[in-house]
Amino acid sequence: MNTMKAAVLKGPKDIRIEQIPLPEMKPGYMEIAVSACGVCGSDIHMWKAGKGWASESGPFVMGHEFCGVVTNPGESDFKAGERVTFWANLYCGTCDMCRAGLEHLCREVDGKNYMGFVCNGAYAERFANRASNAYRLPDSVSDIAAGLIDPLMVAYHAVQKSGVKLLDKVLVVGTGIIGQMIGELAKMRGASYVAISKVNDVKTRKARELGFFDDYFDGNDPHVAEAMREATAGGFDVAFEAVGLGETLDECVSAVKPGGKVVMIGNSIDPKIPFSMNRAVLQEVQLLGSVSCTRVEFEETIRLIASGAFDPVKYVTDILPLDGLQRALERQINPNDPLLKTVIKM
Ligand SMILES: [Zn+2]
Ligand SMILES: [Zn+2]
Repeated sequence: MNTMKAAVLKGPKDIRIEQIPLPEMKPGYMEIAVSACGVCGSDIHMWKAGKGWASESGPFVMGHEFCGVVTNPGESDFKAGERVTFWANLYCGTCDMCRAGLEHLCREVDGKNYMGFVCNGAYAERFANRASNAYRLPDSVSDIAAGLIDPLMVAYHAVQKSGVKLLDKVLVVGTGIIGQMIGELAKMRGASYVAISKVNDVKTRKARELGFFDDYFDGNDPHVAEAMREATAGGFDVAFEAVGLGETLDECVSAVKPGGKVVMIGNSIDPKIPFSMNRAVLQEVQLLGSVSCTRVEFEETIRLIASGAFDPVKYVTDILPLDGLQRALERQINPNDPLLKTVIKM
C-alpha cells in the first residue's frame, strides 16, 4: 500500500475523499490503521477556515479522537496488531509544566498544539505520530467507545477539578456532548440536583432520553436567573460553562450561590469576553478554567470506560463511513439538527 484514502480539507467547508501518500514515519513515531474517529465540535473551526493551524503544506487531514490497530510500531514496545488510542496533546516533555505532570498545560501546547490541528489527524486509513502518546486499549473498550475518550476526558477533568461532592446542586450551561457527559459524571459523584440550561430543545433530545438531568432551563428566558434561584433555594454550588460566550458565562456567574464555583470549559472564538465581573467579586464566585485533562486522567478515562462505570457509546447519534464526514460537519452547525455525536467508522 503506497497511498491511502483520506478526508482532505480542501478549502472552507470543503472536505473531499482523496488518495494521498501514507503518513511519514519520523523518529519515535508509530503507524496505525485507523478503526474509528470521533467528529469533534472543534473540527468545525478549521473546517470553516478551510485549513489546519500548521504552516506545513500538503493535504491536510483533521481528526483527533481516534483509535486503531498498530501496523508499524517503529522503535516502540508496541506490537503490530495491538489496539491503541492516542492522547492528541503534543506536549514537549521538558518544560516546567510537563515535568510537574501537567502536560496538558505544556508551555508549547497553547490550546492548539494537538494532532489533527497542527499536523495531520486520523480521518484517513493510516495515521502516524509519536508512540509516546499512544495507549493500549482493553478489549472492553470498543472502537466506537474509543472514539469518545476525547470528549469524556474533557468532561472528566472538568468534574474532577470542580470538586463536585455529595448533595451539590450543579448546573451545566450548554447542550453539547461534553456538557451532557458532565451532567452524568456529576450525578456519579453524588450531586443531588443536576440541571441544564439550553437555548434549543432539539439539542437536548439525547439528554432527555438518558435522563441524567433533573431540570431543563430556557437560556432565552430573561427571568432564567430568578427561576434557577427558586429551583435551587438560593443558587447552584457549581456551574459549568460549556458554550464559550459572554452571555453564558454571565448566566453561570448569576446562577451560583455566594462563594459558588464556575468552571469554564467552552472555547471562545473571541479572545475577549465581557462578563459581570462585579457580581463575581461581590459574591466571591470562584472562576476556574478547565482544558483537556492531565496525562494521568487520560488513562483514568480509558479505565472509566473499560470498567463499565461509564458507557460513552449511548451519546453517539450517528456512525458513518469516512465519506459521511462532510455531511456530518454540515449537520453539526445546523441548530435544528438533533445530531449530538458522530463517529466515523473506517
Ligand atoms: Zn475533540
Ligand atoms: Zn512542555
